[in-house]
Amino acid sequence: MFSQDEDILSAISKVDRPVLGKDIPILIFRVLRHYSQIYMEDLMGEKASNIVFLNAGKELGKKLGEKLHDNDLKKYLENISNFCKEQKIGILKIIELTDNKLVVQLDECITCAGMDNIGKRICYFETGLVAGLVEHFVGNKKVIARETKCNANGEGTCEVSVVF
Ligand SMILES: [Zn+2]
Repeated sequence: MFSQDEDILSAISKVDRPVLGKDIPILIFRVLRHYSQIYMEDLMGEKASNIVFLNAGKELGKKLGEKLHDNDLKKYLENISNFCKEQKIGILKIIELTDNKLVVQLDECITCAGMDNIGKRICYFETGLVAGLVEHFVGNKKVIARETKCNANGEGTCEVSVVF
């Protein structure tokens, strides 16, 4: 498929669907998103699968960070928040921001909002995405990110905490 160095985003963003257009139902997104994660868990075990999704999300987050960049952190977060809303990914809320910690919540999360409580947090790709966005801002320094709330865990929102 694609190598890491290729511009995956620009390759996959070219859509030729004159009749059906660019939008899809959210269920179709979720089928792809969750089936690939569940299958990966079966194949390689939950821990390894989680790392794969986390790392994939992080790579995407770093690329997205370049596109949404601003030198001012608050403005950068605003760009990200606007992007999430425009693309219907979710409604981003900054819960905590200090010199070395960021906590964000994603209400109406594209991946998990409204899901039944399955007793675990599942948004590893999304957690990686937030980590990558922060890593981009701090000059690609490694950060520690965890999903601290998830709709799939009955916590009413999707929350990611990042220490940098
Ligand atoms: Zn979640």
